[in-house]
Amino acid sequence: MPAFAFDNTYARELPGLYTAWQPARVPAPQLLYFNAALAAELGLELAALQGEAGAAVFAGNVLPEGAEPLAQAYAGHQFGGFSPRLGDGRALLLGEVVDPRGQRRDIALKGSGRTPYSRGGDGKAAVGPMLREVLIGEAMHALGIPTTRALAVAATGERVLRERPWPGAVLTRAAASHLRVGTFQFFLAEGELVKLRQLLDYAIARHDPALAGTPGREMAFLRAVAQRQAQLIAQWMNVGFIHGVMNTDNMTISGETIDYGPCAFMEAYSPDTVFSSIDHGGRYAYGNQPGIARWNLARLAETLLPLVADENDEAAVQRVVAEATAVIDGFPVWYAQALLQGQRAKLGLLATADDEEDGRLVDAWLALLQNQAVDFTLAWRLLADVAEGQPEPLFALFGDLFRDRAALDAWLQQWQARLAQDNAASPLPPAERAAAMRRVNPWVIPRNHQVEAALAAATDGDMAPFHTLLAALQRPFDSDPALAPYAVPAPPAETAAYQTFCGT
Ligand code: AMP
Ligand code: MG
Repeated sequence: MPAFAFDNTYARELPGLYTAWQPARVPAPQLLYFNAALAAELGLELAALQGEAGAAVFAGNVLPEGAEPLAQAYAGHQFGGFSPRLGDGRALLLGEVVDPRGQRRDIALKGSGRTPYSRGGDGKAAVGPMLREVLIGEAMHALGIPTTRALAVAATGERVLRERPWPGAVLTRAAASHLRVGTFQFFLAEGELVKLRQLLDYAIARHDPALAGTPGREMAFLRAVAQRQAQLIAQWMNVGFIHGVMNTDNMTISGETIDYGPCAFMEAYSPDTVFSSIDHGGRYAYGNQPGIARWNLARLAETLLPLVADENDEAAVQRVVAEATAVIDGFPVWYAQALLQGQRAKLGLLATADDEEDGRLVDAWLALLQNQAVDFTLAWRLLADVAEGQPEPLFALFGDLFRDRAALDAWLQQWQARLAQDNAASPLPPAERAAAMRRVNPWVIPRNHQVEAALAAATDGDMAPFHTLLAALQRPFDSDPALAPYAVPAPPAETAAYQTFCGT
């Protein structure tokens, strides 16, 4: 039995959108991480992926049977500036597998050497950033947020030269697909409308099969992508996730989070939080993410317009522009709905009520957190204790920073009144309400200082801290006291100085 039952639709159906290419050979493959749970979910044949054979596959030295490695072409707006030709500069799609539930997934290598799209880059990746993708991606998955996932990380035995030499690694990633907004931009930039149409129909077959062959499917597809992104960004915002590099080549059609480069979780709540060392203008700051998603979706819309209206038919162009604009203007509305739905659950509210009033309640809470620089994750989590009649842990969190106790008391009273109203509509004992809140407000997130410590140890050859941190991140909602060390924010000075890096 081959390890992967490959069935490669991208290679078959989208010629012109990739270059067939082989991974680079590396000197000494060694398997650092294997995601057995994901392998089982994907229905992989494990026997061929163990030990040395597995290390050789996941380092790119041995191609698994049925793989047709290729570098995907895409374009992209990077920090607002358009590059017509990006593409997989250090990644290769090996192929696709259909899991036992019938879901098709890409299997791709990252860090597998130079390709025709590498430009000045070396096509390589280092152990630290690839294990970082494992930690943050698995944390997101455990938080219930759609994401690409790491299947394996193999060390290569070679050094990768960055600001200093680092041990090299290859990541194997599973994704609903690697189609991005930038994939569509590539064909528009090339003026290849026939291929753009093929790409659209391919994307529809893969992600929105109900739309296949329907008239008006172009705008319906745009709407479907926008609605998935609205759900996704709302989930990011409700856990304090900052992607850090929301270029159009890093925004999926599937609605999965992709490319864990400079991402990080916010600690003290502040909408202008930025960690990425290159994001000087704060374009991808926490609070800008919904606006950027909308901007990226407008770029996707632009690629679809020529498929719907002949550019010489002024009336038709105007009609389709109006239709696309309605979708793009729908995004903030869908986003706001998804956000508030999540926030209601975080506040322990089960029944819907007046949106504006609940929105104001949340805004007042966030203003309190911001004014008093309180940890976002813990503040939400400790509201569950308050719901059970134990406000002390929340008071302790506000602690030394507690400049405005009266404001917190006033807000808690408003919230309690709202809870009482909710309880009248959907009665629930306080302990059960608190338990429901703890199922949506995580206790454990990837704390920046913990992630860095685990990656530093792994880079020096000690994988133990990585594995214990990963195990903690895989149960973010558990109240197990053993997880307490992973729930502590970094000292504020450390967070203030924290910087993350792209594509390192
Ligand atoms: P990212 O910001 O990581 O999504 O990457 C943006 C673009 O740069 C993509 O086209 C990548 O393939 C390319 N890239 C990033 N790092 C490297 C590298 N080390 N070598 C070649 N290309 C790279
Ligand atoms: Mg990318």
